[in-house]
Amino acid sequence: MNSADITTVKSILSQSQNIAIIPHRNPDGDAMGSCLALYGFLKATGHTAYVVAPNDYPKFLKWMPGNDTVINFERENPKAKEVINGASVIFTLDFNDLSRVGQMESVLKEAEADFIMIDHHQQPSDYAKVTYSDVTMSSTCEMVYNFIAFLGETDQIDADIATNLYTGIMTDTGSFKYRSTSSKTHRVVAELIDKGADNMEIHQKVFDTNSPSRLHLLGVALSNMVILPEFRTAYITLSQDELDQYDFKKGDTEGFVNYGLTLEGVIFALIFIENREEGIIKISLRSVGDFSVNEFARQHFNGGGHTNAAGGRSETSMEETISRFNDILKTYKDKLNP
Ligand code: 5GP
Ligand code: MN
Repeated sequence: MNSADITTVKSILSQSQNIAIIPHRNPDGDAMGSCLALYGFLKATGHTAYVVAPNDYPKFLKWMPGNDTVINFERENPKAKEVINGASVIFTLDFNDLSRVGQMESVLKEAEADFIMIDHHQQPSDYAKVTYSDVTMSSTCEMVYNFIAFLGETDQIDADIATNLYTGIMTDTGSFKYRSTSSKTHRVVAELIDKGADNMEIHQKVFDTNSPSRLHLLGVALSNMVILPEFRTAYITLSQDELDQYDFKKGDTEGFVNYGLTLEGVIFALIFIENREEGIIKISLRSVGDFSVNEFARQHFNGGGHTNAAGGRSETSMEETISRFNDILKTYKDKLNP
């Protein structure tokens, strides 16, 4: 964040404000961690704050400090609208385009509050009074730590805030192994442990809560995997029937896409998941190296994200989506074999 923006934020937060904090739709660990950490910080510094999530999020995140205070826009719509319309400041965290909040988009567009964006995705839109955007950052949680540091307020970080920030950094870095994990990331994480984040307990709460049906669904996903060595690509499909058979719950497919990348030689992995209710195929894309799944998702599947992790969607059937994907892939043969 540049010094002009820091001055602007300090001036805004010098008075007690009504604040709404918004993660993207289908929030992940980084989205919820950053929102709940900022919530804790703003409460501690004399503001009225609420986290308003566009929709529900996975059970493996529902232990996070402050979780009980989160307002779900889909389930508690009047209350959510009241908070957004009554806000003098709205923070949008872990996304950079208002289309990422689904049905909440029109409500945010009409809000009169000052917007502050904190985000690490590529190509930010221009809707905020203050845009703190940095694509080199491991996570929005690392940025929220920096944000608090820019304000000179790291003393306010208690064990709950530290726990939320640790969780988001851990999930968005694949437990500190992705390229975006810097020495600075590790310094921030060390600081968070000193401030009371229990690293072993957080790992257990997020990763060691598998249900039998999730592991069985993983088995189906792995046996559905198609490997295309000439394109150094591997993809997985999961149909709605398969999800139903294994009692799918939100978050159950988290991480499945990464298995493709563990194959020697594979640099591009995808998972296509049918969502009959929404009439879409949700796509997650991952890569290693320079192949940009952000560009791929943006150009062909109405999505985006980061160079090595992105999401998108298709509005045709699974069969048509896969057939179109195979056609598109042919035009990427050189880019995938540099
Ligand atoms: P995931 O595959 O885990 O849902 O998402 C991977 C990354 O891409 C995350 O950083 C996520 O925020 C972003 N992402 C997921 N879906 C979309 C989408 O539909 N549009 C855009 N622009 N980004 C997405
Ligand atoms: Mn993130």
